[in-house]
Amino acid sequence: MTAEPDIRFDRYYSYEEMTERLQALAARYPKLATLRSLARSFGGREVWVMEMTNPDTGPALDKPGYYIDAQIHAEEHATSATALYAIWHLLTNYGRDEEATRLLDTQVFYVLPRINPDGAELSLQPPYYNWCGNGRFMPGADRHAGLIPEDIDGDGFLVWMRVPDPKGEWKKSARNPDIMVQRAPGEEGGDYFRLYPEGTIRDFDGANVAIEKPFDGNMNRNFPTNWSPQEYGAGEHPLSEPEAAAMARFILDHPNICGMCAYHTHGGIIMRPSMTKPDSAMSARDITLYKEIGRVGTELTGYPTVSIYEDFTPDKTQVRRGGLMDWTYEEMGIISFGTELWDLEREAGVEKVGYYNLYPRNEEVQQKVYAYVREHMGEKAWRDWRPFHHPQLGAIEIGGMVNIWSYRNPPPALLEGIARANALFNLRHAAAAPHVKIDTLEVEPLGADLFKIRAVVANHGYLPTNLSDVAIANKAARPVEVALEVEGGEVVMNPAKVELGHLAGRNERLYPWSPWGQQWSAVAKPMEWLVRAEGPGAGVRVVARSQKGGVHRREVALG
Ligand SMILES: [Zn+2]
Repeated sequence: MTAEPDIRFDRYYSYEEMTERLQALAARYPKLATLRSLARSFGGREVWVMEMTNPDTGPALDKPGYYIDAQIHAEEHATSATALYAIWHLLTNYGRDEEATRLLDTQVFYVLPRINPDGAELSLQPPYYNWCGNGRFMPGADRHAGLIPEDIDGDGFLVWMRVPDPKGEWKKSARNPDIMVQRAPGEEGGDYFRLYPEGTIRDFDGANVAIEKPFDGNMNRNFPTNWSPQEYGAGEHPLSEPEAAAMARFILDHPNICGMCAYHTHGGIIMRPSMTKPDSAMSARDITLYKEIGRVGTELTGYPTVSIYEDFTPDKTQVRRGGLMDWTYEEMGIISFGTELWDLEREAGVEKVGYYNLYPRNEEVQQKVYAYVREHMGEKAWRDWRPFHHPQLGAIEIGGMVNIWSYRNPPPALLEGIARANALFNLRHAAAAPHVKIDTLEVEPLGADLFKIRAVVANHGYLPTNLSDVAIANKAARPVEVALEVEGGEVVMNPAKVELGHLAGRNERLYPWSPWGQQWSAVAKPMEWLVRAEGPGAGVRVVARSQKGGVHRREVALG
């Protein structure tokens, strides 16, 4: 047996360091863990998936599956650490922790800790490009003209340029000149500035500093449902990016996946569907189960659970299109969350007033965040403003917040706590899966070599075997099937293979039964067969098969 791998959650691992640790975990736990490559990136890096289950309790595809992915967006480094934590927690706690043991015995986990290894590696090295996309484009090639981000003062960080300009919309705070506040309408008589990301201007006309939307890509807009080429980084066509295409293929090849979470930063919120519709246009039963599972998440992480459309889409005419969740829930009916890890403002003591806000914070909020960053996040997160002679803009200052190491990712000291809380939520979500079991299998001898066989098949899970109403509406949910196999005999009444339909979960029983409320569906269904058999070796086997709720087999001898 190999040694326990040295895995720490107080640092951000490079691709090579992460790969070594994944390989070491797979070597240390060869029975429970299988490491595979889904695809190769533009830069030739493998996109890893770790599959984890106890094979002694049945094949992986015969168990409810849970899918976690991370770092589809390059600069969201905390996500990869959180996915690695989920892998590490499950494997190292098998046989020690009741939940981890039960989950690996009865379910299977698929964890993709770094979907976008090229972009991640790029943004993990100085000057820490604010990079979303994969390796299709490189910095400088992701825009035609205008401002090109560049570490022009050579300090190893991309920060901000404040350019004196009497037309400017910014001014230095009177209390703290490190902070920039917006100039009010009608305000005159001060020293004003324009703020730009650090860089040089390609094809500068000497007047206007244009900034193009980059085409580095946003693979979370590259999925087929509601795809639109107008989205930032949507790609040339759905699944045009090799990493996204490999993810989609993987999800389609694992129809047992019944729950998912995609990790992102930042914001400290658990996001649920819909991406494109108000709650009033969603299935009420689906919303309720999202809220109930989300409530568990909020208890474990402190993060509120919010609708992407209702709470995270400031302009309802500009809904997000082509996201992974849109495809996996709105199309396939899989219960899908996306967690935005890490909330710098909450950590700095700022009261949360909204979930998506591009507007500048007021002076008081900025001061709290500034004080926190200076005290806890060091010079990697804050660069003092320094005078600089810009070849195109003249005398300016360069400095300010390093976005990627402040707002976008937590300080390494906080990483483990964030990773743990969020991974534990996803294990709890996984444990809400449907679980189909043959509760009873009875034989009644009727004489003349005839036997009545009665089986009761039930769903022991929180979720129904169809997972969601959307899955039924889209005909994505396969009915539970029960098959009778007879050894040394034959079935003489009722088909050997029966479709049971769907079995409800306990999710629809939120309160005692009431004629006014949600009416209950069956969680268990009986079936009977008549079998003729003779001889001492005769017996029957019943196999209950649910695409999402697993496969259960029971046998009984006849006579
Ligand atoms: Zn993201």
